[in-house]
Amino acid sequence: MNNFFNPKSIAVIGASRSPGKVGYDILRNIVQYGYEGAVYPVNPGATEILGRKSYPSLLDVPGQVDLAVIVVPSKNVIEVIEQCGARKISSAIVISAGFKESGLEGAKLENEMIRKAKEAGVRFIGPNCLGVIDTHSKMNASFGAGMPAKGGIGFFSQSGALCLAVLDRALPDEIGFSKFISLGNKSDITDTDIMLALAEDDDTKVILGYIEGLTDGRRFMEVAGQVSKKKPLIILKSGITSSGAKAASSHTGALAGREAAFSSAFKQSGVIRAHTLNELFNYALAFANQPLPRGPNVAIITNSGGPGILAADACDGSDLQLIPLHKDVVDELRSFLPPVASFYNPIDILGDSGADRYERATNTILRDERINAVLILLTPTAVVDVEAAASAIASISHLSDRPVLASFMGKQSVERGVRLLMKGNVPNYSYPEEAVSSLNAMYHYRVWISRPGKTYPEPVGSKNNAAQIFAKAGEENRERLTDSEVHDVLDAYGFSQPKGLFARTSDEAVAAAKGIGYPVVMKIVSPQVVHKSDMGGVRVNLRSKKEVENAFFDITTHVRNIMPAAHIYGVMVQEMIHGGKEVIVGITKDSQFGHMIMFGLGGIYVEVLKDISFRITPLSREDAHEMMRETKTFPLLRGVRGEAEADIEAIEKSLLALSQMATDFPEIIEADINPLLVRTRGEGVIAVDARFTIGGE
Ligand code: ADP
Ligand code: MG
Repeated sequence: MNNFFNPKSIAVIGASRSPGKVGYDILRNIVQYGYEGAVYPVNPGATEILGRKSYPSLLDVPGQVDLAVIVVPSKNVIEVIEQCGARKISSAIVISAGFKESGLEGAKLENEMIRKAKEAGVRFIGPNCLGVIDTHSKMNASFGAGMPAKGGIGFFSQSGALCLAVLDRALPDEIGFSKFISLGNKSDITDTDIMLALAEDDDTKVILGYIEGLTDGRRFMEVAGQVSKKKPLIILKSGITSSGAKAASSHTGALAGREAAFSSAFKQSGVIRAHTLNELFNYALAFANQPLPRGPNVAIITNSGGPGILAADACDGSDLQLIPLHKDVVDELRSFLPPVASFYNPIDILGDSGADRYERATNTILRDERINAVLILLTPTAVVDVEAAASAIASISHLSDRPVLASFMGKQSVERGVRLLMKGNVPNYSYPEEAVSSLNAMYHYRVWISRPGKTYPEPVGSKNNAAQIFAKAGEENRERLTDSEVHDVLDAYGFSQPKGLFARTSDEAVAAAKGIGYPVVMKIVSPQVVHKSDMGGVRVNLRSKKEVENAFFDITTHVRNIMPAAHIYGVMVQEMIHGGKEVIVGITKDSQFGHMIMFGLGGIYVEVLKDISFRITPLSREDAHEMMRETKTFPLLRGVRGEAEADIEAIEKSLLALSQMATDFPEIIEADINPLLVRTRGEGVIAVDARFTIGGE
């Protein structure tokens, strides 16, 4: 990748003499920001552009070319790529648009280009991109306006427009970047290539990315997991909602994956997820400028009550903690703060505070070693010298190994102070909540890098026993497994199930109930009925011969009335399970990431509450552990108001068994066990009802 960032010579094919044209702007950017290598404009109609000798064709350029920047019309790009091959130029940036993003013809052209580039041994960024900037080699091979300051943020983006916006936002505050990479259609070099390159790049401290869609979700997870252990990897993903997804596919022709899949993938690979551009920027500032907090304890210093409370509320909704300060520290604060100040966290040093009080209070608080981070809020009162306060905070932060973040609120009166803060590497946020969420992201990242590797269970289940079942259903081109097949598959993976007997007639049902023992449950058996209770097809707690006979009659007539076309085979008579809590566990398949395991609490309420969590397979023990705890209703399993704790470990085992099953049988498209009845701790779980949908690999 070095040729893309630090080439010794660049040829701009399609360089133009007309200002305002992309081919002109790129050449101008390369020349004007101090790039020190050789620059060769290529344009058949020019002899000189911007003071550089121009060549009719790439083949005429003398000497070695490390990087080709291609700006010619799309129909001519392939020819230039071939010339690159002939000249042994292995790196190119294809700025030209008119490919996949423009329709079918463009997509064909793009495929042809990919093929030709492979043949010619040329790796390329783009097409349909803005270009590449490397501040450290002073190379601006883009048509963006302006050159960002040198710094530690490496940014890649699928959207060129977003590059422009980020660039423009960075310029006035002199926010430092190492590299800017506009990836465009990503038809050769992709996000993962760039992530790996930035992970290795000494100039880059923080990696920032904007993604609309991915082509290989699994590869992304693998690379992101590796990279995020080295450097913070902050990603904004758009195209999550269905309308956003539509915009994304018309934008660069990428198919956006679903929200659940992406959010699981990000979690499992340590990606710090930004939900808005603002968040992306906020996080980048924090990570690029401050050390990570070693723990969740934060102290808030403020000169006014309201913002302090807002910040405290934000902490409350995060994993950060506001612990009371050490007694000695409080005593010292008392020695110089007015008695009406607040010494509890948030520490309110009052509206008449000057810069000196900010300085002293911050220094004092940092003496409390249990405090992992400090957040300084300032409302511009008439008393406070904002710039003096900013300078004092910047010097304290400079000497501290703990993160210091600021929120100087307002605009006009804090502007110069904010600039001093930023210059002193103290990120400033317009609102306290933003500072808190940035600090929270840092804390999460700290937890991610310090946690030990994932552990995977030994394979469970007897794949062989289930294999025949899946094979048979596959041969018969069936989408669903029958009830008895479901039973046998679950059995093969160690799931307990209620005792059950199939009955075709009322008499058989009575005999079955007698064999199983009262009370029993009866359910309709029909290939057309998917949700049995919705069709009046389930009766529970049947205690006698009479009740079984009535239930048989009720169930069969009811289903026949609502679904006259349904084939009714009979009923399943089941052992009635008492007590236990209902959860749902299952498998789904995402087009990008493959199988995911689902967990949710609530049985029949699951669709209403939507309190579910996902993880992409294969599940580690940690994944299984965390995904349960992520749901809001998880505490119900722990037991509320004196209830006994449910067998959480058994659920964990079930999730891992499903993950194994999904790995063993790629043809599973969907499976759910609903309910999985969870008994009290030590007593296990029972798969009461399940269905499987399968399809070609
Ligand atoms: P469906 O989901 O197709 O409507 P289920 O088999 O899940 O059918 O039954 C519906 C509900 O009936 C379950 O969510 C559960 O509450 C209850 N139920 C079903 N079978 C049993 C059983 N064997 N023991 C106890 N309750 C059961
Ligand atoms: Mg069910």
